[in-house]
Amino acid sequence: MNHDRSHALFSRARQLLPGGVNSPVRAFKSVGGEPFFVQRADGAYLYDVDGNRYIDYVGSWGPMIVGHNHPAVREAVQKAIADGLSFGAPCPTEVTMAETITRLVPSCEMVRMVNSGTEATLSAIRLARGATGRAKIVKFEGCYHGHGDSFLVKAGSGALTFGVPTSPGVPKALADLTLTLPYNDFDAATALFEESGAEIAGLIIEPVVGNANCIPPREGYLQHLRELCTRHGALLIFDEVMTGFRVALGGAQAHYGVVPDLTTFGKIIGGGMPVGAYGGRRELMSQVAPAGPVYQAGTLSGNPVAMAAGLAMLELVQAPGFHARLAATTARLCEGLEAAAHEAGVAVTTNRVGAMFGLFFTSEKVETYAQATACDTAAFNRFFHAMLGRGVFLAPSAYEAGFVSSAHDDAVVDATLEAAREAFKVAAAG
Ligand code: PMP
Repeated sequence: MNHDRSHALFSRARQLLPGGVNSPVRAFKSVGGEPFFVQRADGAYLYDVDGNRYIDYVGSWGPMIVGHNHPAVREAVQKAIADGLSFGAPCPTEVTMAETITRLVPSCEMVRMVNSGTEATLSAIRLARGATGRAKIVKFEGCYHGHGDSFLVKAGSGALTFGVPTSPGVPKALADLTLTLPYNDFDAATALFEESGAEIAGLIIEPVVGNANCIPPREGYLQHLRELCTRHGALLIFDEVMTGFRVALGGAQAHYGVVPDLTTFGKIIGGGMPVGAYGGRRELMSQVAPAGPVYQAGTLSGNPVAMAAGLAMLELVQAPGFHARLAATTARLCEGLEAAAHEAGVAVTTNRVGAMFGLFFTSEKVETYAQATACDTAAFNRFFHAMLGRGVFLAPSAYEAGFVSSAHDDAVVDATLEAAREAFKVAAAG
């Protein structure tokens, strides 16, 4: 594969953008090598500036659940653009969006639109603190909730890859208010709430972890957290930026049957445009300005073009059987990857929930952050590059989940597995 144009662009980018990118994991730092620059994307494929094609399992890190450049989303955006790009005053699609979210996710009786997942989580904890009058929040090791100061404590995703569990620039006084727990550990959560329950404003969790590879909750774990929060008067916040509208139409809360107090969204809800949202019970959301005293605002929030893209996407994911088909594709992919690894004599296990999956270079079933980080990352890196060279783009880090879209049909999965059979041999040879 020729990468001359990407290489030239990356050289220019590195002079002007920190690390050559606008979001850390894109730089390929943990897998080594250089990123390719994308010219265009369509369906299950990305096309780079050198004319190479890749089957894409990153999906813009989650939003592209119907595949890239879906005509319905594109047309909705084109139609919206004809009427103007931003109004700074209410527009009709904001109401339709709020109606759609509250219908699909009933725990959200009211919502507020923002511009990213980070804004959604920041706003949700401010509301939790404002509503409870308490200062502390609880998060989980390896969970990533965007780059807000309070969340860069034992965080996942890029922060995990780069070994920066607590970023410089986060004041210790603020980080001290973030308590952390090991994910999927029942007793640790009980003990923390027994000790500090009265000081905890809210507990925020990725109900399926997608930022320390992919780790589903143990049976009853989310229910356990629900009970602890209720008992101690803390708010349960599900960060469904990744899982929302993906693991099920109603998100992880529908899939596991657990009702949070507040939920954050991003990714799919914007159809590829920069969008986030947070929502919850009416009595809580009524405390957000201007209805209530908890301040939060945004120049571009509820942007008409972003609302059009998100609404078109949410329309598509409501097609009957949509999530069941995606789950079946993901199952076929994961089972095929395990079989291919086995053939090559490589120890690999997979996790999956709906259209989210994780691939681990280990022989164990991975249920904890400690297990996820103990996997053979060198083998993953060899596998990653062997796949990329064969035209399959996996997330460029061993600590990210993979995403399947409805454009990933059987032929795409077969081509992926064919590449994987060879790539696992390369991984094994390391
Ligand atoms: N929460 C979760 C669970 C995420 O996966 C992410 C981003 N990957 C965020 C929050 C932050 O979203 P954004 O990058 O849009 O700020």
